[in-house]
Amino acid sequence: MKIYIFTIFPEYFECFKNYGIVSKAIKQGKVEIETVNLRDFTKDRHRTVDDVVYGGGPGMLLKPEPIFEAYDYLKSKGVNPYTLITEPWGEKFNQDKAKALSKKEEILIICGRYEGVDERVKVLVDEEVSIGDFILSGGEPAVLVIMDAVIRLLPEVLSDEKSKEIDSFSDGLIGYSNYTRPYEYRGMKVPDVLLSGNHKLIQLYRRWDQLQKTLKKRPDLLEKANLSDIDKKMLNYIIYGKSFEDFLKEEKVD
Ligand code: SAH
Repeated sequence: MKIYIFTIFPEYFECFKNYGIVSKAIKQGKVEIETVNLRDFTKDRHRTVDDVVYGGGPGMLLKPEPIFEAYDYLKSKGVNPYTLITEPWGEKFNQDKAKALSKKEEILIICGRYEGVDERVKVLVDEEVSIGDFILSGGEPAVLVIMDAVIRLLPEVLSDEKSKEIDSFSDGLIGYSNYTRPYEYRGMKVPDVLLSGNHKLIQLYRRWDQLQKTLKKRPDLLEKANLSDIDKKMLNYIIYGKSFEDFLKEEKVD
């Protein structure tokens, strides 16, 4: 995958490239990140990328010319990117969008700054994307978020491919609770079922835990989740305030 970023602050992304999974993915050649400095596509001595807003009003806007020129430059190199622009009102970025983007070969993300971009730039854009209902001072932090979520989904980037499947949202629910050593810490113990070695039981308990957490913390997710018959049964127990042990006993699971 190749990711191009149109920005007035190309150095912003350097630190991001040097850490963790992203850095590994770059070293392995799974992803290449190329920042394009919009100032390189200005024609005046001051390398101006912004201008005042027609009709008046506060602030400045990113001018259309550097963005179009930079886009033409990519096209002239044979790049045919799926193009996004960061906008606070854009479609909300989420795990499904991250998955869809991880399947693209060439992505371009245009970072807005100031009051935003000249509206005519939108003819280049396939998708307007937001990372939430709040206002950032520029698209760059949003692009870091998007790239991080997408890159870890690329094939063979995570050391354990299975972790993608158990992450929150991957199956419509919150991920299950995890524990590591020590077994007991400050009076708090690890649920014994996790030490039982009974794989089927552990799987069932984790599913119970996922359902319980989702019901409590993100009930909105349950409406869209793909629940099996056993999920629905467990959910009923949870709603009636029963424990996992009650469920095992009453449903005669062993
Ligand atoms: N005046 C604009 C906000 C401009 S913020 C408005 O009222 O909507 C400057 C730039 O930051 C935007 O052009 C966009 O590229 C980026 N940005 C701000 N908030 C964002 C968010 N929540 N998600 C993605 N990008 C955002």
